[in-house]
Amino acid sequence: MSDLAIVAEKLDAVDELAGRRAEFVLDTASDRAADAAGVYLDGNSLGALPAVVPGRVEDVVRRQWGELRIRSWEESGWWTAPERIGDRIAPLVGAAPGQVVVGDSTSVNVFKALVGAVRMAGEGRDEILVDATTFPTDGYIAESAARMTGRTLRPVAPADVPGALGERTAAVLLNHVDYRTGRLHDLPGLTAAVHEAGAVAVWDLCHSAGALPVGLDEHGVDLAVGCTYKYLNGGPGSPAYLYVRRELQDRFDSPLPGWNSHAEPFGMRTGYEPAPGALRGRVGTPDILSMLALEAALEVWDGVSVEAVRAKSLALTDFFLECVAAYVPAGRVECVTPVAHEERGSQIALRCDDAGDVMKRLIERGVVGDFRAPDVLRFGFTPLYVGFADVERAARVLARTLG
Ligand SMILES: *Cc1c(COP(=O)(O)O)cnc(C)c1O
Repeated sequence: MSDLAIVAEKLDAVDELAGRRAEFVLDTASDRAADAAGVYLDGNSLGALPAVVPGRVEDVVRRQWGELRIRSWEESGWWTAPERIGDRIAPLVGAAPGQVVVGDSTSVNVFKALVGAVRMAGEGRDEILVDATTFPTDGYIAESAARMTGRTLRPVAPADVPGALGERTAAVLLNHVDYRTGRLHDLPGLTAAVHEAGAVAVWDLCHSAGALPVGLDEHGVDLAVGCTYKYLNGGPGSPAYLYVRRELQDRFDSPLPGWNSHAEPFGMRTGYEPAPGALRGRVGTPDILSMLALEAALEVWDGVSVEAVRAKSLALTDFFLECVAAYVPAGRVECVTPVAHEERGSQIALRCDDAGDVMKRLIERGVVGDFRAPDVLRFGFTPLYVGFADVERAARVLARTLG
């Protein structure tokens, strides 16, 4: 056994989250077929399956839908699921109850949040700033939102946002963690700067929620969105969420005012009157099957502190970097994820020219990360089900694949 494998064993032995692993389906038939002890480092793209989900989905389909049918909207709590599940996500992003609603995709929620933010900012402010390094969908939607609201859109690197703000700025849309490099941006500092300029701050939490403390209420974030199929393990295409800070809810004028966000949805009125609170972020009939699969998946967070998750996440990424430095020949890969903890999310991105090919071979050997064009190997570390021995093994297989 190598020295680092011994270190990994010791770290796993004192890991207070190690027990959570049993709540996930990890030892898969396809790993066994590949004759590889699988290491899943792609939970930042699609979280692993929590073991409680299949049985719950079966019950939702067979009993709630199959037997109770229409009665389930009330008796099985279908109608109130978007707010109820929003309140389950809220503590994971540092929000008090009543501010998060679940539904639609992240892309759709970016649209609601950004147009809502521009409408709040008022007529005099004619510019929207968007993270120049954003995950593409946010940029596409921001461009359309700007066109629709008659504002100009300016892409700015997050670090340059303070210098770009001014009395023209209506809203700023930023990614909390860069999906490609894993860089964690300064949410408290940037939010404060946006407020100083009198603008509205919108954050995309796709790569931070469930991996590190976000502190939405504490830092005065105005609006936020995030997906639930990455670190929150909600399953493929599980619905996203929208946060609107309590003090702004009365002023949130959704660009998608469907009947589900009406003050009296079953009044079937001609005129729209928005519901109070987080409900205002709803649109149409919720996708109940995905939503209740997500609700079950969130049970793995019972009794877990986000601080403990963050501590383990940093330990895992530190240890991966240590193993890569020990096993991979110097200069073969370049780490593009910041080394400083305060600038690192929960992934490590390594650059190398043949990244696409390397990732294909790594996956064949049972180590699953992903490739981001043009030259990035991306490894996500999900503290609820990845351990230190996994990390050591992944680095060892990576070195063999690169060598
Ligand atoms: C994953 C991700 C999305 C995904 O948007 P969908 O509408 O769920 O496909 C959006 N933004 C960011 C920053 C992401 O990382």
